[in-house]
Amino acid sequence: MDSAGGEGGATSSGGQAAAAAGQQPSRYESQKRRDWNTFLTYLRNHKPPLALARCSGAHVIEFLRYLDQFGKTKVHGAGCAFYGHPNPPGPCACPLRQAWGSLDALIGRLRAAYEESGGTPETNPFAARAVRIFLRDVRETQAKARGIPYEKKKRKRPPQASSSAAAASSSAATSRGGESSSSAALSGGSSGDGSGPAAPPVRGSSTPP
Ligand SMILES: [Zn+2]
Repeated sequence: MDSAGGEGGATSSGGQAAAAAGQQPSRYESQKRRDWNTFLTYLRNHKPPLALARCSGAHVIEFLRYLDQFGKTKVHGAGCAFYGHPNPPGPCACPLRQAWGSLDALIGRLRAAYEESGGTPETNPFAARAVRIFLRDVRETQAKARGIPYEKKKRKRPPQASSSAAAASSSAATSRGGESSSSAALSGGSSGDGSGPAAPPVRGSSTPP
């Protein structure tokens, strides 16, 4: 999970293509499914049990904090000698956390999964303002503690870019890992028309409106 930290939101694009390809679940889709199941399990084990419909941004933040115990990213405390060092020369006792980039991408996937499973954007707890603020805080804290500026070089950055766009692009970035499609075998050399496959030719639909 930690590996996503470096590439969060690097480039946009690709989201459309990935959705259009849609033959087999992409890495992004299967990751989204796994994340969603993890979250539902978390809700089930919550004490007291928590229904998805009652889930708020505060619960989402609670979930993100819970995930920190599985983190692999060293985040130095202000008292640590390595505070602000990107490459500390030695070990220290600071805790491991989830990297901001991982959390940011995760929230993007969960936000999409929530709406795909019937939730409305208005009630989406992953889109809550509190979650956005929490993530921003994590980013700033980790940037200082690890000496890593999370500044993305974006060409155009409209003032107050909606965070949904940012989340979408970072989600798309994580789905780019999948490699070559296996379409090479499909391109038969037969240039003849009609004789070969039985599949009906689908040409430009000329159906009247
Ligand atoms: Zn430390």
